[in-house]
Amino acid sequence: MTYAYDDTNIFAMILRGEIPNSTVVETDHSLAFRDIHPQAPVHILLIPKGKYVTIDDFAANAGPEEAADFWATFASVIESEGLREKGFRVISNAGEHGLQEVPHFHLHILGGHAMGPILAR
Ligand code: AMP
Repeated sequence: MTYAYDDTNIFAMILRGEIPNSTVVETDHSLAFRDIHPQAPVHILLIPKGKYVTIDDFAANAGPEEAADFWATFASVIESEGLREKGFRVISNAGEHGLQEVPHFHLHILGGHAMGPILAR
């Protein structure tokens, strides 16, 4: 399955260095940075540098090095932000029904206080 990637999306611009970001950690294949409109005391976005549109695109098409790097970076963010002890929430919005705004796969990593109900409409 191929996914149409839009090079004009804002995370692509961040990855090209065209707009600034508040970097938490950067590796060869991944970037974690702070969400510009935080929804919790800790709100970090973790993205692969590769051109993946959604989480299922990444799951189906990322290479083993990219995938391993992504999950290692995820673990290092949880560690460095001190989220392991009290816990956290991870969200990945995909497509129209997921209300995904930025069409570059990202995990929202949320923590720092107890989360509310998992869904609201
Ligand atoms: P989503 O609806 O899952 O696509 O969420 C996109 C997220 O990207 C939102 O939480 C925005 O606040 C965040 N966002 C948009 N532009 C930026 C930016 N330039 N830097 C950091 N976060 C951003």
